[in-house]
Amino acid sequence: MAESQQKNREVLAYAANYANRYLTRLEQCPVKAKVETEEIRERLEPKLPEYGIPPNEVVQELVDNVEDGILHSASGRFFAWVVGGALESAMAMDWLTSCWDQNAALSCSSPAASVVEETVGEWLKELLELDKESSFALTTGCQMAHFTCLAAARFELLSQAGYDVHQSGLNGAPRLSIFVGANAHRSSTRALRFLGFGSEQIKVAPMTGDGLICAQGLERHLAKKQEPTIVILCAGDINTGAFDNLKDLIPICKKRQAWVHVDAAFGLFVRTSSKKRGLIEGIELADSVAADAHKWLNVPYDSGLAFIRHSEAHKKSMVISADYISSTENSRDPMDWNPEWSRRARGFSLYAAIRELGRAGIEKMVDDHCQMAAYLVEEISKLPDVEVLSEPIINQGLVRFRDNNPTAAEVDHDAKTRLVIKLINETGEAFFSGTVWAGIYAMRISVVNWRTTPNDIERAVAAIRGVLESVSEQNLKFNSGC
Ligand SMILES: *Cc1c(COP(=O)(O)O)cnc(C)c1O
Repeated sequence: MAESQQKNREVLAYAANYANRYLTRLEQCPVKAKVETEEIRERLEPKLPEYGIPPNEVVQELVDNVEDGILHSASGRFFAWVVGGALESAMAMDWLTSCWDQNAALSCSSPAASVVEETVGEWLKELLELDKESSFALTTGCQMAHFTCLAAARFELLSQAGYDVHQSGLNGAPRLSIFVGANAHRSSTRALRFLGFGSEQIKVAPMTGDGLICAQGLERHLAKKQEPTIVILCAGDINTGAFDNLKDLIPICKKRQAWVHVDAAFGLFVRTSSKKRGLIEGIELADSVAADAHKWLNVPYDSGLAFIRHSEAHKKSMVISADYISSTENSRDPMDWNPEWSRRARGFSLYAAIRELGRAGIEKMVDDHCQMAAYLVEEISKLPDVEVLSEPIINQGLVRFRDNNPTAAEVDHDAKTRLVIKLINETGEAFFSGTVWAGIYAMRISVVNWRTTPNDIERAVAAIRGVLESVSEQNLKFNSGC
């Protein structure tokens, strides 16, 4: 027995070799995946295996079949979506988290996971200068952090109206009013849907010309409201990185007893930057804040953060008692604060990331990324027929590639932008994603990976320049004439 177990364990070193190979190749490998889904589907055996094979062979088989379909998103030249890199200490602790395989539901099922989670919760509140009394939860991502925060909001607002939603459910509950910004990330409205709130209850707040929530307009709306209200603000728009004016908006909402929830998926980390923190001033007064650690803290997927200033409402909205749960006194049972029951011990990777960088290192990473995003957009803007739609406020920017035909219309600029993104990604030198912003198609630029260096920016710009030259030489058809 011992011998076969020993043999099985060889697979761990084997996997570590593959990890090493992946990371070593980031410099020279194309950033894109080499093959598309169809090809990968063809390679995988569709039939359920009747008999097993040794662990080494399992890993070998799967790696051989899927490796070409892996994006080199850990590369410093990956600027698509908002995908953080993974710090190596955090990655290593993620492996150990699997090895230790703790069920981080209860402190008795993992005293270490429970305490490490407590430690990182306290560290994060201090790092991000949130209310010390806030409770927190480590979730799978910002989506589930929204869910956790908004469940607490629902419970608290209905309790204040004399209604116990846990006992009586939402049928027959007093009506809640909910305001979101016009550009709110759909993960918050999706969380509301899971909590029983439909789109008819969710109203778009009055907006300013630059796509942010208008303080006076919101104040007028809130003044008319009798019912309990939730207002969802944005700290770091997914496209532009813009921030609602929290400093003005939150006191307005609080004056009307509204619950203020902030979507700060990546924007929360500008709180660590002495250069950028003015953008997020006032967030400490929000009732709840949802964020991601797998974006700007560079913890591997998946890792989300919820902070709630009403710890009692938070706990009441999540806690459950069952006969076999044996709460240990003086300890924190993570499942009392989270929607999951059995759960991964996410605290270990978070601990590692914060410990590796320290407060100063996190501030430097945030500042470097903001600077490199500005540099990247500036260099792209010097190329022909480029329109900058949004200069980086933080680490996000938007550009568009215009069709220089004098009769070209918006659809033609859209088509050229789509084509240029596709061709850049095909070079393998850099990887970007597209987005629709204010009704037009744009290339989004997100710098959010600790590996990105100014040299990566220059390589990306050279690739874009090459693509634009080839497009104009070949006069490639990108017009929208289908
Ligand atoms: C990424 C993102 C989300 C969703 O976060 P997940 O971690 O994918 O659940 C929500 N809001 C904003 C602003 C985001 O950037």
